[in-house]
Parts: sequence; C-alpha cells; structure tokens
Amino acid sequence: MSDYTDVLFNTQTLISFSSVTPNDAGSHEWLMNALKNYGYRCREINHNNVTNFLAVPSDGLNTETILFVGHTDVVPANVSEWKHPPFNAVLDNGVLYGRGAVDMKSSIAAMLAVVAECHLNQKKPNIAFLITSNEEGESDFGIEYVLKHHSNLLKNIKKVLIGEPTSEHHIGDTLKVGRRGSLNLKINISGQAGHVAYPKQCQNPLDVAIDIMYSMNNYKWGNAYPNFDDSKITIVDIDSNSNVFNATPSMCSIKMNWRFNPSLTIEAIKHTVQEIIFTNNQKGFEIESIWLNQAKPFFNQSLSFANQIQQAIADGSDRKALLSTSGGTSDARFFSTDHYELVEFGPKNYSAHKSDEHISLNDLQALKNAYMKIALINITSYSSQDLLI
Ligand SMILES: [Zn+2]
Repeated sequence: MSDYTDVLFNTQTLISFSSVTPNDAGSHEWLMNALKNYGYRCREINHNNVTNFLAVPSDGLNTETILFVGHTDVVPANVSEWKHPPFNAVLDNGVLYGRGAVDMKSSIAAMLAVVAECHLNQKKPNIAFLITSNEEGESDFGIEYVLKHHSNLLKNIKKVLIGEPTSEHHIGDTLKVGRRGSLNLKINISGQAGHVAYPKQCQNPLDVAIDIMYSMNNYKWGNAYPNFDDSKITIVDIDSNSNVFNATPSMCSIKMNWRFNPSLTIEAIKHTVQEIIFTNNQKGFEIESIWLNQAKPFFNQSLSFANQIQQAIADGSDRKALLSTSGGTSDARFFSTDHYELVEFGPKNYSAHKSDEHISLNDLQALKNAYMKIALINITSYSSQDLLI
C-alpha cells in the first residue's frame, strides 16, 4: 500500500491527474481506493459527465462528523506560460509546482494524510469526504446537484469544512465563514449605425451606454454590514461592433459584476438597474438585460465550529485566525442554510488560478498539521481488530 500519510506524495499524485473541469481524470478512483483502506464506504453520485463521491467513515455519520468538502477539478493551464509542466508536479527548491497545488488538491491530499496517520496511530477520525469534479466553471452538477437531489445522505451532518485556499500570509491566519453574493449582468444596446459627419442620422448606442455606466458606478449600492466588505459594482467590459473612426456602431454591450453584502438582495439590484436604464434611455434605445450566475451572500448563524477550529489551530497562542467573508464564490454557498455550520480553510490563495501555481513544502506540512488539529477535536481510538472487517 502507498504511504498515504505523506502529504507530498498525495499532492503530487493528485496533481498528476490532468483533471481540467469537469473531468476527474482518474483522481476519484485513486482517492476512493485510498480511503477504502481506512474502512470508508464510498458512494458515487455521477451526473452529466460530472463525478462526485461521498466517503463515509466506518462508524457512519453523526452530528459531530466533519464533512470535508473538496474539488478535484482545476482551471485550464497554458503550458507555454509555466516554468514546469502544470501536471508534472515538479518539486523545485522546496516548492511544488502544479495546477491544483493550492486550489485545491493539496487540501484533499492533506486531509487524506491526516486520516492515514490517525489510523496508523490506532485512532479513528470522525471525518467524511464529499468530493466533486465540478467546482470551477459552471458548477451545475457538482455539490449543488448533490445537495439538491441527495441531501438525505447528509442529514446527520452539521459541520462542514471546505478546503478552499483561504490563508493569506501564513497557513491558518484566515478562515472564511460567509461570502458576499455575486451577480453578473450583460446589457445589449441596439442603435443605428451611421456616418459621424451626419450625427442626426445616427443612433449611437455608446451615448446611452456611457450614461448608464456613469449612473451605475455612482449609485450607492447598499449599506455597510457587520463582518462584510461594502457592496461594489465593477464594470468589466464594453464592446461595440465599430472599429473605424468615422462610423457609429449599431450595437454595444456592457458587462458588469456586483459583489454584495446582505444589506442588498438580488431583487433590489435588478430593480435599481431597471430604474437606471429607464432614466437614462430617454431616446428609447432597444436595451436587453441578461442576468447570469447569481449567488446570494451568506453568513454562518452559529460560529461555534469556526471557533473550535480557531482554538484548535491557534495552539494556545493568541494568534487567532481571522474570520472573514472576503473573496470569490465557492461551493460554500450551497451549504448556506441554518442546518450547516460552514468553515472554509485551506492553503494560501496567492497563486490560485495563475500560471506557476505552487505551494511550499513548509506550507504543505503546516496544512497537514492544521488539519490534524481539527481532526483531533473529536477523535476516537479503536483497537486494531476494528480494521479487520
Ligand atoms: Zn477552489
């Protein structure tokens, strides 16, 4: 049997599966086989080319079980921009390079190493695994699908730990206990192309686009909210079908995104946008609004699991992890009901999704140590007889 206590071996093996979303590329089979060595029962929940599995420890699930949630899929990597091939898991001067090195194969690898080490020491960690190959990109059939169609499998679960990279400067300095919401809007404005020398014959969609963007940017979106950053709109693109200097375009589109705290709702944003468009569209342009990827903000109602983790990884020192709600959306939003207590905690996020994504060996070991402390919160010992089932 491989040495699954070795977090470096586990991470290198997981990186070597080129699991570009939503393909698990064999990583799930490897993980399930590893977990079965420790008495886990694995149930696959696959749908539409997406693979998910739930691995239940031999004692089953109870309200103290920590459900460790992870994704094996990664964003694509452009090989020519990498110092080392992204799926070769090259170790260079104490640093491991590879797609998924921080987002988030190292977290899965570290939790597997914790389980293996506990069993080596005759201890049984009360940890279950829920793993998906569909977190990056359009994540319709990953964790969202499992929770929608198979929530009965998780009815005993209260504590959820997601291994997303949350640390900032050192491993364990930041835990996420909520997230701002996210909302995308594309506005298409149709006009009439024409020669710029004859402005009366033009209906330039950029004129109204500029007014709309100005109003959007200057509107005060929501209020301050405890534990959250302010809500913010970002205009990310403006595009038209004119590429000459003497003609107006017949259409243009604007793309924008909101990151918003619980003082705002998706409905309120949509309502305000309608008003802004109406007020600025005195000339009656044809304007279409396309809303995409809606995610509500959420915040844990109870922080007792987060406080347990804070306590465990601080090791008696007063360097307690910050409880944060910053950053982008993740699978965490699907657990955002009062039923679960959710904490996201993983490696440093600096190189996530970038070329040369990497993690240092020190951080890898620190992550395993931190996960071990979390596992020890409610661990049980067992006799070696227990393994002979
Ligand atoms: Zn991730």
